[in-house]
Amino acid sequence: MGRNRKKEGYQDGAKVLGTYPLETVLDDIGEYNREFQGYLVRMSSLRYHTFAKGLKCAYCDLVGSFFALQESYNGDREGKQPRAHFNLYALDPRDGTWVLMTKDHILPRAEGGKDTLDNLVTACRRCNAKKADKLDFKPPRKPKRSRKKRRKDIMAHFAATVERITIEPHPDADRLELAAVGDYRAVVGKGQFKTGDLVAYIPEQAVVPDPLLEEMGLKGRLAGKAQNRVKAIKLRGVLSQGLCYPAREGWEEGQDVTEELGIVKYVPPIPSQMDGEVYGAGFDYTVKYDIENYKRFPDVLVEGEPVVFTEKIHGTWTQVGVVPDALAHEEHGTLMVTSKGFAEQGIVLIPNEENEDNLYFRAVRANNIEAAVRDAFDYMLKAGDPVFVLGETFGSGVQDLGYGYDPRKDNIGFRVFDIYVGVPGHGRYLNDDELDDACKDMNLDRVPVLYRGPFSKEVMAQHTDGTETVSGEGQHIREGIVMRPQTERRHPSLGRVQLKSVSEHYLLRKGGTEYN
Ligand SMILES: [Zn+2]
Repeated sequence: MGRNRKKEGYQDGAKVLGTYPLETVLDDIGEYNREFQGYLVRMSSLRYHTFAKGLKCAYCDLVGSFFALQESYNGDREGKQPRAHFNLYALDPRDGTWVLMTKDHILPRAEGGKDTLDNLVTACRRCNAKKADKLDFKPPRKPKRSRKKRRKDIMAHFAATVERITIEPHPDADRLELAAVGDYRAVVGKGQFKTGDLVAYIPEQAVVPDPLLEEMGLKGRLAGKAQNRVKAIKLRGVLSQGLCYPAREGWEEGQDVTEELGIVKYVPPIPSQMDGEVYGAGFDYTVKYDIENYKRFPDVLVEGEPVVFTEKIHGTWTQVGVVPDALAHEEHGTLMVTSKGFAEQGIVLIPNEENEDNLYFRAVRANNIEAAVRDAFDYMLKAGDPVFVLGETFGSGVQDLGYGYDPRKDNIGFRVFDIYVGVPGHGRYLNDDELDDACKDMNLDRVPVLYRGPFSKEVMAQHTDGTETVSGEGQHIREGIVMRPQTERRHPSLGRVQLKSVSEHYLLRKGGTEYN
């Protein structure tokens, strides 16, 4: 690559003239030449035909979400007409950078593979490079498919959905208004929307493709290295969470448009201490866990309902599962330790020597959790039920908040927030009082309980902000609280009733990390 080619406006060595939504190219393939921005583009490329077969990398999870028009040559030379070509890009959910999508020869050319459409698949540049001419290429750490089909989980998850908004005046600005979705507020331009309009509500943590940012006039104005990640901000004193994008023709309320918009959820890189050797155990061995925000489900908790509030600790989500012998993995045994990101994919850390320094295993050892579970839940395991202790591992260096712990000095914080008994999807979470008893039995600390009593918005607000109560010294801000009924119950659209209320100071803090 030439020097100085990584500067802004260049991708893969060629000048970016603009970005375009997928249909600009995919609907026009075959037409010989077309002109874009004064440049001639050959539209019959075999690459475009390959992309039309599938936008997803054949070897990993990246999906091409937009095209960039890039200069082939500018016409300066020999009076030739300027030419350009389209490149397909995926967004890396870890940092929002553009990953070039290429056409890949299934049977490599070196092996006599042909340049024909049936021998071509879409592959991201990373996988293509790793594959090179190896016939038996398998990308690293691709989870094995679960033996059973993944159960459809009704738990809400990260998505851009079509919502009907209510417009409210902005208390402190003439040219701005507030769009309300549930209890969320997103700042929008005055007159841009009216009450009752349908919008795609793009939540925090979304990585947004360039064409969409351009359409919304927000290019280069969001967070992250690539300036394309949605973060909470305070605009003239009002907390703004998420973006509103005008609904396209035919969209219906509640529709999930995440894929259509090319949006992906931001996935932070895995720090080495949290990474390790893994295997695909499947979804019977991992608990899928998400806590929705109260603002999105403001009507689920009922005024006066007996609830328990616990402090939400900013560490890393940890599963310590012990399964009965009958359900043991034939190679890796009965201990199912995993992180949130891995658990979402049915992946478990291998309990071997290579993983000895892995943070999660260190937390398990330091707190003697495996033995404690075997002891306290002996009867359950004998009855054939797996037990999953879910807790937060934390301390300085894990995230930006330390709570007085420092795993680098062998002082690892660990607190239990849930215990799930049974095969995931078929078992249940322990109720508040049962969880208390179990933690005492296991000699493990639970996350701090801040409140037990009737629910109200006022008590929620009282406990959301403040200082942490883990260290006993109030060392820094509190992330927020987790609220749930004292007796577990479910809700038709939320699933398990459990909501978080996040402190504004936490959302707006500088230098925050979100590893998991
Ligand atoms: Zn790939």
